[in-house]
Amino acid sequence: MSTKITLGIIGGGQLGSMLCQAAKKLDIKTIILCDDKEAPASNFSDDFIYSKYDDETNLIDFANRSDFITFEFENIPVNTLKKIQKIKPVYPDPEINSIVQNRFKEKNFINQHKVKTTNFKLIKSKNDLNEIDQLIPGILKTTTLGYDGKGQFVINSLNDLKNLKIDCEYILEKKINLKKEISNILTRYQDGKIAIYEPIENIHKDQILDQSKIPADTTDLIIDEAKKTSIVLAEKLKFIGTMCVEYFIDEQDNLLVNEIAPRVHNSGHLTINAYDVSQFEGHIRAVCNLEYKNPRKNFDATMKNIIGAEIDNYRSMNLTDKQFFFDYLKKETKPKRKMGHLTTIN
Ligand code: ADP
Ligand code: MG
Repeated sequence: MSTKITLGIIGGGQLGSMLCQAAKKLDIKTIILCDDKEAPASNFSDDFIYSKYDDETNLIDFANRSDFITFEFENIPVNTLKKIQKIKPVYPDPEINSIVQNRFKEKNFINQHKVKTTNFKLIKSKNDLNEIDQLIPGILKTTTLGYDGKGQFVINSLNDLKNLKIDCEYILEKKINLKKEISNILTRYQDGKIAIYEPIENIHKDQILDQSKIPADTTDLIIDEAKKTSIVLAEKLKFIGTMCVEYFIDEQDNLLVNEIAPRVHNSGHLTINAYDVSQFEGHIRAVCNLEYKNPRKNFDATMKNIIGAEIDNYRSMNLTDKQFFFDYLKKETKPKRKMGHLTTIN
């Protein structure tokens, strides 16, 4: 009988694919559960279950076939995660999702620990649209289920709000004049030990990540503050696995937390080629309770996201020995869809 560990991963997109590849390197078997029959990660996993995220029979089967369970995106219903947690350990703890799935709860949690975010207000109905002058210009964001700028509306004047239908819960968040955006990835192991990467500089286009690079072009003071803050948040969340904190730096050099991703993160794809332990390998090590390994940087690097039809050019491109092209093998090319990425090491 095989004594191999099997890791169950919920979600089968590119993050799932890269988790499976990292697991293979560590001789860990993977099983993916995903509601997309053509999930890219099925090309890389050992087993695959096509299922809705609330199908109890499939969930139980999935849990029974796994030793540890994790996920590649944070919007899985918390109840689903709690159900399977009764059968096998789920990392990070689903309780964390119930905080970070909701922008209002997330910001309150961050502020509770004396860490700054943008100013914001919960908007549940038109009645909440008073005393909000301080938050204009602002961004109205759905409290749940947003990603890559989806569910966000830029509000330049109070007039813009009058025409909007408030049909679900939003937060109105002050729009920051951004000097820069950085993100900081870390892996926290089951014994509480933390492996932290250096902060990454990010450039967004149309609210979607376009490019990431290390080193981030900012001060040592900000780098240190970001790392300290990320560690505080990981510890307060009792996080297990790899997570990412996204930061804004405003024109006065204030560091504000934008959001926490309780998972491996797009900006960390460059860790695959720049470090000896990638964010994905770190995550697998922590979740499966393997030996701690402190990631060592081998190269500075830049990562470019390949969006929509851009992918066609890359598929036929000649690469240098410093370029690494990742094709997510998505069946359908769509505008604004992340299709692949290119990492260049220096
Ligand atoms: P998502 O969950 O879609 O990643 P974010 O809240 O991270 O949503 O927003 C995506 C991007 O939009 C940010 O990385 C940033 O570039 C821009 N953005 C979001 N909120 C603000 C803000 N309050 N001020 C300025 N820019 C913002
Ligand atoms: Mg974001």
